[in-house]
Amino acid sequence: MDLFKFKKASFVSSLIVSVSIIILQINFLFFFLDIVFTEFGLILLIEFFVILFLAYVLLSLSFERFLVSRVKELYKSFIPTTYYVNSMNQQEDIEILTSNIKKLNSEKNLEIELLKKEQDYRREFIGNLAHELKTPLFTIQGYVLTLLDGVNDKKVINNYLEQTSKGVDRLIYIIKDLDLITKFESGIASLDRKSFDIIKTIQNVFELLEMQASKEKIVLKFDKEYSEPIIVNADEERIQQVLTNLIINSLKYGVGKGVTEVSIEILGENKILLRVADNGEGIDKEHLPRLFERFYRVDKTRNRKLGGSGLGLAIVKHIIEAHGEKIFVESKVKVGSEFSFSLTLE
Ligand code: ADP
Repeated sequence: MDLFKFKKASFVSSLIVSVSIIILQINFLFFFLDIVFTEFGLILLIEFFVILFLAYVLLSLSFERFLVSRVKELYKSFIPTTYYVNSMNQQEDIEILTSNIKKLNSEKNLEIELLKKEQDYRREFIGNLAHELKTPLFTIQGYVLTLLDGVNDKKVINNYLEQTSKGVDRLIYIIKDLDLITKFESGIASLDRKSFDIIKTIQNVFELLEMQASKEKIVLKFDKEYSEPIIVNADEERIQQVLTNLIINSLKYGVGKGVTEVSIEILGENKILLRVADNGEGIDKEHLPRLFERFYRVDKTRNRKLGGSGLGLAIVKHIIEAHGEKIFVESKVKVGSEFSFSLTLE
């Protein structure tokens, strides 16, 4: 409480009270006692200031009390209890209340901004999902309707059924990928951690993708010979999936007679950094921040033709983050890309 801090409302009210009392007194002196005003001029002036001072003190005290109690009531009704202060000093109370309301306001603004971003993200996600499902569904529908119309040639029937089956496979592929991401996001997907030799896992993936690589005329290789095993602690199946997704991408977005090179760098005492580098088409840096988002594609029409679900990198990121590890990307258009992630040694 600071009584002498100027409060306009209290001062104006006290001025009105004081002037009214003095006018009443003057009237009383003139009409009832028939006394000449000038004789009492000085006394009246002193009296005016004394009344003004007392009225000001009284009014400012009661105003302050009234205001503080109302603000507190309002405050209690909609502000979380963590913000509530019960100071004895009313002036301080108002200052704290004001700063808390400002703080709460900026927090709420942030929350609203976040909700808006989430809403945009959801809208974009549903749009992308509908688009991804639409293509195989329409393909399936087209072939089924043609078959229902009646086709006599057995060869044509077989071909249509094969195309229909491919469409169904693609739908299953997208749904499975989405299901996996959702499981990671909601924390349901559990990791089966164990110790294994990462060199062997990389060799496995190389063998599995050898045919596809030679079709794309791309060589899969290590940067050097790793004669000793490198034992890491992670979910082997999931890490194999990460490597497969990254290497398949290096084939899809690679250039003929290209190379995809895997290297391992030991970082400190218990970490390694595994790199998958290619000399493919590369990615413009404007796309890098959104690359790991679900359905994000650099060249939407071309990439879709290559058959991916647009979920490969999102899955990679979720698997790596579920391990408590980090993933990085560096890329330059027409030079190539490098995806790297950390793993923990046994
Ligand atoms: P997709 O199914 O489209 O391949 P991904 O999530 O695996 O989906 O990749 C997202 C996008 O990132 C791709 O569409 C592609 O544009 C880009 N991309 C991923 N890996 C590479 C790479 N090695 N070289 C160039 N572009 C890549």
